[in-house]
This record gives sequence, C-alpha cells and structure tokens, in this order.
Amino acid sequence: MTDPFGRNIDYLRISVTDRCNERCLYCMPEGYKGWAQKADHLTAAQLVAIAAAAARLGFRKFRLTGGEPLLRADFLEIARGIGALPGLHSLGVSTNGLKLAPLAAELSRAGVRSANVSLDALDPDLYRRITGGDVARVLAGIRAAQAENIFVKLNCVLLRGQNESEYRPLLRFAAEIGAPVRFIELMPLSRDDALGASSILSVAELRARLHAESPLEPLADYRPGHGPARYWRDTATGAHVGFIGAITTPDFCESCNKLRLTADGKLRPCLGRHGELDLKSALASGDPAALEHLLARAIAEKPEDHTFNTDYAPARPMTALGG
Ligand code: SAM
Ligand code: SF4
Repeated sequence: MTDPFGRNIDYLRISVTDRCNERCLYCMPEGYKGWAQKADHLTAAQLVAIAAAAARLGFRKFRLTGGEPLLRADFLEIARGIGALPGLHSLGVSTNGLKLAPLAAELSRAGVRSANVSLDALDPDLYRRITGGDVARVLAGIRAAQAENIFVKLNCVLLRGQNESEYRPLLRFAAEIGAPVRFIELMPLSRDDALGASSILSVAELRARLHAESPLEPLADYRPGHGPARYWRDTATGAHVGFIGAITTPDFCESCNKLRLTADGKLRPCLGRHGELDLKSALASGDPAALEHLLARAIAEKPEDHTFNTDYAPARPMTALGG
C-alpha cells in the first residue's frame, strides 16, 4: 500500500515485549519501571493475526523486536506463525544476542532468515558499561546464527566519548565474519539525562573520519534487509558499512517503508512522532477486517517526516516502542 507521500509501506516491525535483559544507556532510562503489565502484551495468536491482516494488505517484510524479543517464552510460536504467512518476503529478528546461541537452530527452523544484532563495543568492559551484558555471549550468538545460515547484520549506536575507540575494531570484526555493520545516530528516545547533546556523533562526521583513514567506496545498490542504512565499502578491511542518520540526514524519511506495532498493541506510523492507533478493540471484536482497516488507516495517517529535530519529547522509551 502507498502512503500519502508515495512511499510503499510493506514492512511491519513488531515489538513482542518491552522487557529486556540488558540496560543500554541510550535505550532504557535509568531506574525505568514503566513496564507494560504482562497482561497488556499481545498473545502469540493476536500477533500472528495482526501480521496476517498486514500480509493481506501487501506487507511482505516482518521483523520481531522489543525490548529483547528472545525473552518471550513463546517466541518460536510467534515466528512460526508469521514465517508461514503467504507472500512473505522476509522474517527477521532484532536482538541483543545474549540468547541467540542456544536458540539459533530453532529460530532458523521457525523461518527466521536474518538477525540484526546490537554490538556497541567489542571490548568486554566497555560493552558491559554501555549495556550491562556479556559480550562473549553475544559473539557466540552471532557465530551460532551464521552457522544456521541466518543473515547477521551488526548494529552499533554512536556515542561520542563512549565507544569511539570501537568503530575500527568493529569494522575489522565485521569483515572477518562477513557481516555488514551499521552505525546508528543516537535518537532522543530515552529520558536518561546522561545522554545529552555531548553524546551525539553524526554519521557524516564518522564517515569522514573513517574515509580519512582508508577510503570508503559508495555501494549505491546494496540494501540488505531493505532497512534505512546507506552503505559504503571500507577499502582497508572490505567491510560493508552502513550509516543510519535519522537526525542529520535531510531526506532520511523519504524512503521510509514501515509501520511499528508496540508490545501493548498500538500501531505507530512513525518512531519520531507520538501518534498511535490502538488495536485492542479490533482484536477483541475478532473481525479480521477491523485489523485491516486500522492498518490501512495507519498508512493513510503516516506523517511525512519525524519531529526529532523540532518538538519531539521522549515519552515512551525505545524498549516500549520496539526498535
Ligand atoms: N533488544 C534488541 C536489540 O538491542 O537489538 C531489539 C530492540 S532495540 C530497541 C533495537 C535497536 O534500537 C538496537 O539496535 C538499538 O541499538 C537501537 N536503539 C535503542 N535506543 C536507541 C536510541 N536512543 N537511539 C538510536 N538507536 C537506539
Ligand atoms: Fe534492551 Fe535492545 Fe534496548 Fe539494549 S537496545 S536496552 S538490548 S531493548
């Protein structure tokens, strides 16, 4: 389906939980207690029903995210249900990777074809300082996923003064394992005061720095997973490096192809605007046409661009919205 600005919307990012087993500085405000009640989380059957309604409208790409999606005990049931939808083009998961190693084989059998794995640092102490987690488990998860032919992309949030020493090692690691790495500009989604303007590093600045060290060649047609990154090839390592600059790239929203579903059943047409449509009563009615109607409405109401640079004030942290 096409939105009012001519964009083809065929990608649904589904947050299956707002819970997480990490505490990333930029995502979860310190001391956060605003979890949805378990009862507010959609059931596996409801999530699959929404994805099926989306598939009937022409959605072809689905990504399961959170919070940490692999914390859901019924995650494989959700993945299997969506993995079996007619016309499906891709089913992926976004994960911090902590639980990836033991689940990789079953994820692959359930139809998960790609995993975006957050990796903000390779240094174990720094990784723990930023996320609270154990990087060795994440690296084991990445290897296990690749061994199951799950296509892995690495995600690193740019934090000036905090993980700048890690970008070059991450490029080397990405080249070594044959996975693209994407550098993501910090978005004002957390209320954590520790992340002010001084933490922001633009993708243009990083790209210029990397390019000065070893030339970056643009990869105009490389778009794995149909995400928002624009890619270059680092000539020193051969790594494919993507940049997601939601804040500083003026035409960033022009190629947006997605809607988001929050863990508590709200459709969010744009990450950087507060508008949401509640699916709960449509789900309660049991009428599949009611879900299709709200999905179509969310597409019709999709704004032209986000308001991160003007009047956006964080209300719900990223873990609640589904990154
Ligand atoms: N827990 C999973 C993970 O960490 O990949 C999935 C959910 S997480 C919210 C999805 C993505 O959002 C991660 O790549 C994370 O780095 C990114 N993210 C979270 N908060 C962000 C922020 N304030 N700015 C930019 N990216 C953010
Ligand atoms: Fe959890 Fe992912 Fe947010 Fe980190 S970025 S706190 S792993 S949801």
